[in-house]
Amino acid sequence: MRFGSGAALAPIALLLGCAAPTLPPAPAPVSSPLPSAEEAYSGAIFVEGALEQGGWLRGRVPPGTARLTLGGARVAFDSEGRFFAGIDRDAPASLRITGSAANRQTISRDLLVARREWQIERVDVPLRGSVPSETFMAIRRPELAAIEAARARRSDSAGWLQTFVWPVKGRISGRFGSQRIYQGVPGSYHSGLDIAPGGSGAPFVAPADGVVVLAAQKPFSLEGNLLIVDHGMGLNSAFLHSSRLAVKQGDRVRQGQTIGYIGATGRASGPHLHWSLKWQDARLDPLLFLPPMP
Ligand SMILES: [Zn+2]
Repeated sequence: MRFGSGAALAPIALLLGCAAPTLPPAPAPVSSPLPSAEEAYSGAIFVEGALEQGGWLRGRVPPGTARLTLGGARVAFDSEGRFFAGIDRDAPASLRITGSAANRQTISRDLLVARREWQIERVDVPLRGSVPSETFMAIRRPELAAIEAARARRSDSAGWLQTFVWPVKGRISGRFGSQRIYQGVPGSYHSGLDIAPGGSGAPFVAPADGVVVLAAQKPFSLEGNLLIVDHGMGLNSAFLHSSRLAVKQGDRVRQGQTIGYIGATGRASGPHLHWSLKWQDARLDPLLFLPPMP
């Protein structure tokens, strides 16, 4: 199924669990005027991607669309009607996608979201450290503020349109979504993918084009030398625990470009790269953006 030039006639297409999507060919620009009150707003919202918890979707809205929402969250689209949206780890079994015209006509469909079996480990010890000390929080608050400010920075990067590449090859030492339950009390789940290439110092690369919105000047208490790259459309990557970074804030990076070096700074049990992906507030599974490891 491909994007055609006649968006209003584009068929409804769904590709389930497609981990290595092909880039849709660039569609013709949407040049038709917005429909008037008398004209019908019609056509289909084209969607493809990994429609599962922690997954994502890309698609295209028909001409005349003024607003798009997914599960109530506003979704941006470009001048050609193309959009990206993420599906949170804990998303419900169905999400409604709705396009609205300026004249308030709407088109909707319900997208089925496949449920994941997360790696859950039940342990018979109490959850510790739930109340951080004031000394820790005095350091932590400005770090959290810096992360929040960085994630609010939006760039015009088109990295969201690309098929992602592995930032580094190595053993998968931690999976997205895994969680421990301490005597019935759930701890927070693992928010990223851990890759351990063996030892420190190996370079890692940008999995897609982007703009550096945060490059730590000194190690953060948990994340170490934190790097955040914005891929556009509300999608961003965070890379934790680097021994050092190869880029600075504001840099434009290309897919495959070295952006840092593996390390164990911050709270890390050994040298590895923790890579997390977020779209707006949704946490996504990096494995669903990648082809099998080469
Ligand atoms: Zn991790």
